[in-house]
Amino acid sequence: MSKNELERYKAVLEVRKAQIDASLRNRDEIAIEKTADAIDEVQLAGERELAIRNLDRESILLRNVRAALARIEDGSFGTCLHCEEEISPKRLNAVPWAPYCIRCQEAADRHEFQPAESLEELLADAA
Ligand SMILES: [Zn+2]
Repeated sequence: MSKNELERYKAVLEVRKAQIDASLRNRDEIAIEKTADAIDEVQLAGERELAIRNLDRESILLRNVRAALARIEDGSFGTCLHCEEEISPKRLNAVPWAPYCIRCQEAADRHEFQPAESLEELLADAA
């Protein structure tokens, strides 16, 4: 991968990271406001659950984005973490934080291997 391409992915990932950071911060404020309003408890519980689910999703995304930025720094960006084949540019353009090639991602989705560990290790290395 050329330096220009790397810079481009890095810029996209930085923007995405800033967006998620901002959105995670805003959500805290919204949660406090709603609680103060004392809405119907059932509705509140439902909203809280939804907020937590979204929070989980955003947190995972943020972790993936951070890990991808770390891979740009250490030069392993664009290489599948599982099979070490190159991830296709088409996939990286759609999902720049993708840690796996499409084949391995599908295998991970089917729980054929445990993807979380390698990401945690990567983050530990980056810290
Ligand atoms: Zn792979």
